[in-house]
Amino acid sequence: MNYRHAFHAGNFADVIKHIVLVRILTYLQEKPAAFRVIDTHAGAGVYDLTGEEAARGSEWLTGIARLMQARFSDAAGALVAPYLDIVRAFNPQRDLRSYPGSPLIARALLRPQDRLVACELEPVARKHLVNALRRDVQANVVDLDGWTALSAFVPPKERRGLVLIDPPFEHKDEFDRLADGFAGAFAKWPTGCYMLWYPAKRRRATDDLARRVGAEFGGDADRCLRLEFSVAPQTPDGPLTAAGLLIVNPPWTLRAELKLVLPELEKPLGQGGAARFRLEAVGG
Ligand code: SAM
Repeated sequence: MNYRHAFHAGNFADVIKHIVLVRILTYLQEKPAAFRVIDTHAGAGVYDLTGEEAARGSEWLTGIARLMQARFSDAAGALVAPYLDIVRAFNPQRDLRSYPGSPLIARALLRPQDRLVACELEPVARKHLVNALRRDVQANVVDLDGWTALSAFVPPKERRGLVLIDPPFEHKDEFDRLADGFAGAFAKWPTGCYMLWYPAKRRRATDDLARRVGAEFGGDADRCLRLEFSVAPQTPDGPLTAAGLLIVNPPWTLRAELKLVLPELEKPLGQGGAARFRLEAVGG
Protein backbone atom coordinates (compact mmCIF):
# COMPACT_ATOMS: atom_id res chain seq x y z
CA MET A 1 0.00 0.00 0.00
CA ASN A 2 1.66 3.17 -1.18
CA TYR A 3 -1.35 5.45 -1.11
CA ARG A 4 -1.17 8.34 1.37
CA HIS A 5 -4.31 10.40 1.57
CA ALA A 6 -2.35 13.23 3.23
CA PHE A 7 -1.19 14.31 -0.25
CA HIS A 8 -4.79 14.80 -1.32
CA ALA A 9 -6.52 15.86 1.90
CA GLY A 10 -8.87 18.77 1.39
CA ASN A 11 -8.63 18.69 -2.40
CA PHE A 12 -11.64 19.25 -4.68
CA ALA A 13 -12.60 15.58 -4.54
CA ASP A 14 -12.54 15.54 -0.73
CA VAL A 15 -14.59 18.72 -0.62
CA ILE A 16 -17.33 17.30 -2.86
CA LYS A 17 -17.33 13.91 -1.10
CA HIS A 18 -17.46 15.47 2.35
CA ILE A 19 -20.20 17.95 1.49
CA VAL A 20 -22.34 15.00 0.33
CA LEU A 21 -21.38 13.02 3.44
CA VAL A 22 -22.50 15.87 5.68
CA ARG A 23 -25.79 16.33 3.78
CA ILE A 24 -26.61 12.63 4.18
CA LEU A 25 -25.76 12.51 7.88
CA THR A 26 -27.65 15.73 8.53
CA TYR A 27 -30.67 14.07 6.96
CA LEU A 28 -30.24 10.91 9.07
CA GLN A 29 -30.22 13.12 12.17
CA GLU A 30 -33.77 14.20 11.47
CA LYS A 31 -35.24 11.03 12.97
CA PRO A 32 -34.46 10.10 16.56
CA ALA A 33 -33.70 6.45 15.78
CA ALA A 34 -29.99 5.62 15.92
CA PHE A 35 -27.88 5.28 12.80
CA ARG A 36 -24.49 3.77 12.06
CA VAL A 37 -21.74 4.98 9.76
CA ILE A 38 -19.45 2.34 8.27
CA ASP A 39 -16.34 3.86 6.72
CA THR A 40 -14.53 1.02 4.93
CA HIS A 41 -11.42 2.99 3.89
CA ALA A 42 -11.22 5.65 6.54
CA GLY A 43 -7.76 7.22 6.29
CA ALA A 44 -5.88 8.97 9.09
CA GLY A 45 -8.77 11.03 10.41
CA VAL A 46 -7.09 14.43 10.64
CA TYR A 47 -4.54 15.84 8.22
CA ASP A 48 -1.93 18.46 8.96
CA LEU A 49 -2.10 20.83 6.01
CA THR A 50 1.22 22.38 7.02
CA GLY A 51 2.92 18.97 7.06
CA GLU A 52 5.32 17.76 4.38
CA GLU A 53 2.89 15.49 2.52
CA ALA A 54 0.03 17.99 2.28
CA ALA A 55 2.46 20.79 1.46
CA ARG A 56 4.04 18.75 -1.34
CA GLY A 57 0.70 18.04 -2.95
CA SER A 58 -0.72 21.50 -2.19
CA GLU A 59 -4.04 20.14 -3.42
CA TRP A 60 -5.95 21.64 -0.53
CA LEU A 61 -5.06 25.10 -1.81
CA THR A 62 -7.42 24.60 -4.76
CA GLY A 63 -9.93 22.72 -2.63
CA ILE A 64 -10.90 23.57 0.92
CA ALA A 65 -8.82 26.78 0.99
CA ARG A 66 -10.83 28.17 -1.92
CA LEU A 67 -14.11 27.01 -0.47
CA MET A 68 -13.47 28.78 2.82
CA GLN A 69 -13.16 32.04 0.87
CA ALA A 70 -16.10 31.45 -1.46
CA ARG A 71 -19.33 33.41 -1.35
CA PHE A 72 -22.59 31.49 -1.54
CA SER A 73 -26.22 32.38 -2.03
CA ASP A 74 -28.27 32.08 1.16
CA ALA A 75 -29.80 28.78 0.03
CA ALA A 76 -26.54 27.09 -0.97
CA GLY A 77 -24.66 28.65 1.95
CA ALA A 78 -27.09 27.12 4.44
CA LEU A 79 -26.49 23.66 2.92
CA VAL A 80 -22.68 23.95 2.90
CA ALA A 81 -22.48 25.60 6.34
CA PRO A 82 -22.57 22.41 8.47
CA TYR A 83 -19.56 21.07 6.53
CA LEU A 84 -17.62 24.32 6.77
CA ASP A 85 -18.45 24.57 10.48
CA ILE A 86 -16.87 21.15 11.06
CA VAL A 87 -13.73 22.19 9.17
CA ARG A 88 -13.61 25.44 11.18
CA ALA A 89 -13.92 23.51 14.44
CA PHE A 90 -10.61 21.81 13.54
CA ASN A 91 -9.06 25.23 12.93
CA PRO A 92 -9.78 27.40 15.94
CA GLN A 93 -6.92 29.71 14.93
CA ARG A 94 -7.54 31.91 11.88
CA ASP A 95 -5.36 29.99 9.43
CA LEU A 96 -6.43 26.76 7.83
CA ARG A 97 -4.00 24.16 9.18
CA SER A 98 -5.96 20.96 9.69
CA TYR A 99 -8.40 19.07 7.59
CA PRO A 100 -10.74 16.41 8.99
CA GLY A 101 -11.16 13.20 7.01
CA SER A 102 -14.38 11.27 6.63
CA PRO A 103 -14.36 9.45 10.01
CA LEU A 104 -13.85 12.68 11.94
CA ILE A 105 -16.47 14.49 9.89
CA ALA A 106 -18.90 11.65 10.53
CA ARG A 107 -17.97 11.63 14.22
CA ALA A 108 -18.84 15.31 14.46
CA LEU A 109 -22.38 14.48 13.34
CA LEU A 110 -23.08 11.50 15.61
CA ARG A 111 -25.67 11.98 18.32
CA PRO A 112 -25.30 9.98 21.55
CA GLN A 113 -27.31 7.07 20.11
CA ASP A 114 -25.28 6.82 16.86
CA ARG A 115 -22.14 4.78 16.12
CA LEU A 116 -19.19 4.81 13.73
CA VAL A 117 -17.06 1.92 12.51
CA ALA A 118 -13.93 2.99 10.66
CA CYS A 119 -11.54 0.57 8.91
CA GLU A 120 -8.00 1.50 8.00
CA LEU A 121 -5.38 -1.01 6.97
CA GLU A 122 -2.26 1.13 6.58
CA PRO A 123 -0.51 1.10 10.02
CA VAL A 124 0.61 4.74 10.19
CA ALA A 125 -2.76 6.11 9.09
CA ARG A 126 -4.52 3.71 11.46
CA LYS A 127 -2.36 4.85 14.40
CA HIS A 128 -3.31 8.47 13.69
CA LEU A 129 -6.97 7.51 13.45
CA VAL A 130 -6.86 5.54 16.70
CA ASN A 131 -5.30 8.58 18.39
CA ALA A 132 -7.90 10.92 16.94
CA LEU A 133 -10.75 8.75 18.24
CA ARG A 134 -9.10 7.58 21.46
CA ARG A 135 -11.48 6.81 24.31
CA ASP A 136 -14.44 7.51 22.10
CA VAL A 137 -17.12 5.01 23.02
CA GLN A 138 -19.18 5.78 19.93
CA ALA A 139 -16.40 5.20 17.41
CA ASN A 140 -14.63 1.95 16.71
CA VAL A 141 -11.45 1.89 14.63
CA VAL A 142 -10.86 -1.57 13.26
CA ASP A 143 -7.74 -3.13 11.83
CA LEU A 144 -9.59 -4.96 9.11
CA ASP A 145 -9.53 -5.02 5.35
CA GLY A 146 -12.30 -2.66 4.22
CA TRP A 147 -13.71 -5.20 1.76
CA THR A 148 -13.94 -7.84 4.47
CA ALA A 149 -15.44 -5.30 6.85
CA LEU A 150 -18.08 -4.47 4.31
CA SER A 151 -19.62 -7.91 4.61
CA ALA A 152 -18.78 -8.27 8.33
CA PHE A 153 -20.54 -5.09 9.48
CA VAL A 154 -23.50 -5.03 7.11
CA PRO A 155 -26.29 -4.89 8.04
CA PRO A 156 -25.71 -2.94 11.26
CA LYS A 157 -28.04 -3.59 14.15
CA GLU A 158 -29.41 -0.02 13.91
CA ARG A 159 -30.85 -0.76 10.44
CA ARG A 160 -30.34 2.89 9.51
CA GLY A 161 -27.12 4.36 8.31
CA LEU A 162 -24.50 5.03 5.72
CA VAL A 163 -21.70 2.96 4.23
CA LEU A 164 -18.88 5.01 2.73
CA ILE A 165 -16.67 3.02 0.35
CA ASP A 166 -13.70 5.14 -0.58
CA PRO A 167 -10.82 2.90 -1.71
CA PRO A 168 -7.48 4.30 -2.88
CA PHE A 169 -7.74 2.94 -6.46
CA GLU A 170 -4.15 1.74 -6.38
CA HIS A 171 -5.00 -1.48 -8.19
CA LYS A 172 -6.40 -1.95 -11.66
CA ASP A 173 -9.23 -4.14 -10.40
CA GLU A 174 -10.55 -1.59 -7.90
CA PHE A 175 -13.60 -0.75 -10.04
CA ASP A 176 -14.55 -4.45 -10.09
CA ARG A 177 -13.93 -4.75 -6.36
CA LEU A 178 -16.11 -1.74 -5.74
CA ALA A 179 -18.96 -3.11 -7.85
CA ASP A 180 -18.65 -6.59 -6.30
CA GLY A 181 -18.26 -5.26 -2.75
CA PHE A 182 -21.29 -3.05 -3.14
CA ALA A 183 -23.37 -5.89 -4.63
CA GLY A 184 -22.53 -8.18 -1.70
CA ALA A 185 -23.37 -5.53 0.91
CA PHE A 186 -26.49 -4.37 -0.88
CA ALA A 187 -27.81 -7.96 -1.04
CA LYS A 188 -27.55 -8.11 2.76
CA TRP A 189 -28.76 -4.58 3.43
CA PRO A 190 -30.85 -3.17 0.58
CA THR A 191 -32.22 -0.28 2.62
CA GLY A 192 -28.89 1.20 3.72
CA CYS A 193 -27.50 4.34 2.18
CA TYR A 194 -24.19 3.86 0.32
CA MET A 195 -21.65 6.32 -1.02
CA LEU A 196 -19.18 4.90 -3.53
CA TRP A 197 -16.30 7.14 -4.53
CA TYR A 198 -14.35 6.74 -7.79
CA PRO A 199 -11.82 8.62 -9.91
CA ALA A 200 -13.51 9.73 -13.13
CA LYS A 201 -10.58 9.28 -15.50
CA ARG A 202 -11.82 6.68 -17.92
CA ARG A 203 -15.37 6.98 -19.18
CA ARG A 204 -15.74 3.29 -19.94
CA ALA A 205 -14.76 2.23 -16.40
CA THR A 206 -17.04 4.77 -14.72
CA ASP A 207 -20.02 4.01 -16.97
CA ASP A 208 -19.52 0.31 -16.37
CA LEU A 209 -19.44 0.84 -12.61
CA ALA A 210 -22.67 2.88 -12.72
CA ARG A 211 -24.32 0.24 -14.89
CA ARG A 212 -23.30 -2.58 -12.54
CA VAL A 213 -24.47 -0.70 -9.46
CA GLY A 214 -27.73 0.26 -11.18
CA ALA A 215 -28.35 -3.36 -12.15
CA GLU A 216 -28.61 -4.29 -8.45
CA PHE A 217 -31.94 -2.57 -8.05
CA GLY A 218 -33.49 -3.34 -11.39
CA GLY A 219 -35.02 -0.29 -12.96
CA ASP A 220 -35.72 2.08 -10.09
CA ALA A 221 -34.06 5.34 -11.09
CA ASP A 222 -34.80 7.00 -7.74
CA ARG A 223 -32.47 4.68 -5.93
CA CYS A 224 -29.12 5.94 -7.12
CA LEU A 225 -27.60 9.30 -7.92
CA ARG A 226 -24.45 9.70 -9.95
CA LEU A 227 -22.47 12.85 -9.34
CA GLU A 228 -19.30 13.73 -11.21
CA PHE A 229 -17.30 16.86 -10.70
CA SER A 230 -14.48 17.95 -12.95
CA VAL A 231 -12.16 20.86 -12.20
CA ALA A 232 -10.13 20.81 -15.44
CA PRO A 233 -9.79 18.63 -18.56
CA GLN A 234 -8.28 15.26 -17.65
CA THR A 235 -4.97 14.38 -19.28
CA PRO A 236 -3.89 10.71 -19.42
CA ASP A 237 -0.83 11.11 -17.18
CA GLY A 238 -1.79 14.24 -15.29
CA PRO A 239 -3.20 14.52 -11.79
CA LEU A 240 -6.79 13.55 -11.19
CA THR A 241 -9.13 16.35 -12.22
CA ALA A 242 -12.51 14.61 -12.04
CA ALA A 243 -14.10 12.43 -9.39
CA GLY A 244 -17.44 10.75 -8.98
CA LEU A 245 -19.83 9.44 -6.39
CA LEU A 246 -22.59 6.91 -6.67
CA ILE A 247 -25.10 7.46 -3.91
CA VAL A 248 -27.46 4.55 -3.40
CA ASN A 249 -30.70 5.08 -1.46
CA PRO A 250 -30.01 8.81 -1.19
CA PRO A 251 -32.13 10.94 1.12
CA TRP A 252 -35.06 12.17 -0.98
CA THR A 253 -33.88 15.72 -0.35
CA LEU A 254 -30.35 15.19 -1.67
CA ARG A 255 -30.85 15.72 -5.37
CA ALA A 256 -32.52 19.11 -4.92
CA GLU A 257 -29.86 20.14 -2.41
CA LEU A 258 -27.04 19.22 -4.76
CA LYS A 259 -28.72 21.11 -7.59
CA LEU A 260 -28.48 24.21 -5.44
CA VAL A 261 -24.96 23.67 -4.16
CA LEU A 262 -23.00 22.22 -7.10
CA PRO A 263 -23.34 25.19 -9.48
CA GLU A 264 -21.89 27.40 -6.76
CA LEU A 265 -18.87 25.15 -6.36
CA GLU A 266 -17.91 25.36 -10.03
CA LYS A 267 -16.24 28.75 -9.84
CA PRO A 268 -14.27 28.34 -6.61
CA LEU A 269 -13.06 24.81 -7.42
CA GLY A 270 -12.29 25.32 -11.12
CA GLN A 271 -8.63 25.18 -12.11
CA GLY A 272 -7.88 27.54 -14.98
CA GLY A 273 -11.55 28.05 -15.78
CA ALA A 274 -14.84 26.99 -14.29
CA ALA A 275 -15.36 23.43 -13.17
CA ARG A 276 -18.28 21.31 -14.38
CA PHE A 277 -20.58 18.92 -12.67
CA ARG A 278 -22.95 16.23 -13.83
CA LEU A 279 -25.77 14.93 -11.67
CA GLU A 280 -28.12 12.23 -12.86
CA ALA A 281 -30.18 9.28 -11.72
CA VAL A 282 -28.84 5.82 -12.41
CA GLY A 283 -31.45 3.47 -13.75
CA GLY A 284 -31.36 -0.25 -13.18
N1 SAM B 1 -12.31 8.13 3.36
C1 SAM B 1 -11.19 9.03 3.64
C2 SAM B 1 -11.71 10.45 3.66
O1 SAM B 1 -12.67 10.76 2.92
O2 SAM B 1 -11.18 11.27 4.41
C3 SAM B 1 -10.07 8.88 2.64
C4 SAM B 1 -9.64 7.48 2.42
S1 SAM B 1 -8.33 7.22 1.29
C5 SAM B 1 -9.02 7.60 -0.25
C6 SAM B 1 -8.24 5.47 1.26
C7 SAM B 1 -7.65 4.86 2.54
O3 SAM B 1 -7.85 3.46 2.49
C8 SAM B 1 -6.17 5.07 2.73
O4 SAM B 1 -5.92 5.65 3.99
C9 SAM B 1 -5.56 3.65 2.67
O5 SAM B 1 -4.48 3.48 3.54
C10 SAM B 1 -6.73 2.82 3.09
N2 SAM B 1 -6.76 1.43 2.59
C11 SAM B 1 -6.18 0.93 1.47
N3 SAM B 1 -6.55 -0.36 1.31
C12 SAM B 1 -7.40 -0.67 2.33
C13 SAM B 1 -8.14 -1.81 2.67
N4 SAM B 1 -8.08 -2.93 1.92
N5 SAM B 1 -8.93 -1.77 3.77
C14 SAM B 1 -8.99 -0.64 4.53
N6 SAM B 1 -8.31 0.49 4.25
C15 SAM B 1 -7.52 0.48 3.16
